[in-house]
Amino acid sequence: MTNTFKNMPWNDYSSYIKRTFGQRVQKISVNAGFTCPNRDGKISKGACIYCTNKSFSPFYCNSGASVREQLEKGIAFFSPKYKTQKYLAYFQSFTNTYGDIDYLKKLYLEALSVEGVEGFVIATRPDCIDEDKLMIIKNISKGKYISIEYGAESTIDKTLVFINRGHSYQQTIDAVELTAKIGINTGLHMILGLPGENEEDFYHHAKEISKLPINTLKVHQMQVLKETKLAQIYNESTELFFDLKLENYILVIVKFLEFLNPNIIVERFTSESPKDMIIYPDWKGKKNFEISHMVMAKMKELDTYQGKRFVK
Ligand code: SF4
Repeated sequence: MTNTFKNMPWNDYSSYIKRTFGQRVQKISVNAGFTCPNRDGKISKGACIYCTNKSFSPFYCNSGASVREQLEKGIAFFSPKYKTQKYLAYFQSFTNTYGDIDYLKKLYLEALSVEGVEGFVIATRPDCIDEDKLMIIKNISKGKYISIEYGAESTIDKTLVFINRGHSYQQTIDAVELTAKIGINTGLHMILGLPGENEEDFYHHAKEISKLPINTLKVHQMQVLKETKLAQIYNESTELFFDLKLENYILVIVKFLEFLNPNIIVERFTSESPKDMIIYPDWKGKKNFEISHMVMAKMKELDTYQGKRFVK
């Protein structure tokens, strides 16, 4: 396989957005007041062991305000910076398809009615979707951009049980396949470095998700944040934790990309939680773009690219 990406060693999200919209597009996070079945007792009350909602929301995104108000506030914040840009509403906090179908429809339509909003991205769990919801989403899109991002996190069921995720990898496969079949853009979210997983597991994830009909992928490092169950586990013993020193993580990402299907668009490699919440790994506040530059430099040095070791 050869490198077919222009000037880039991976299939990058910014180029995809420019190809799709002809210009830069800013995502505006929306907190629509959803909860999560893994917190409210439907699946469990314990939540995923790393979950804290404190790290999720930018200042303009407050569930007390309507979807329209949050989007308008976000647009007012970003528009002076980039005059010509378009926007995508990003239903980000908790599980954004967990609700009554009419209520969901109302919220999504409200987002699409805001001037400048060209579509929306919905973050959700793979066990909180069904054909009826997908058809509603498809039908209201009317030419606007729609994507559903599923939190898969791992392809290994043993890990999913350990992190109290409350769903299996097969449920991720089913949700992704149904979404793609209905003709909606599908994204996946993965975490590298979950307790008990090692390098071979990370590359196994790359190979497994490469078989899925996904358009986009967000991958990030596991973060041990304060006031989580994961923090308790970490403080008791670090035995189960992969060494996420930044230089190790960069090498893992490089190899992960080598195994990844080159058709998958990669949106990010890192998560940026507030510095004062992070217990491990401490990367001294490195930003997403800085990590991307480091990955790029390493891939150039090693003369490698996404999909180099991908096997169909
Ligand atoms: S699915 Fe998301 S919101 Fe729900 S418990 Fe897990 S991390 Fe938290």
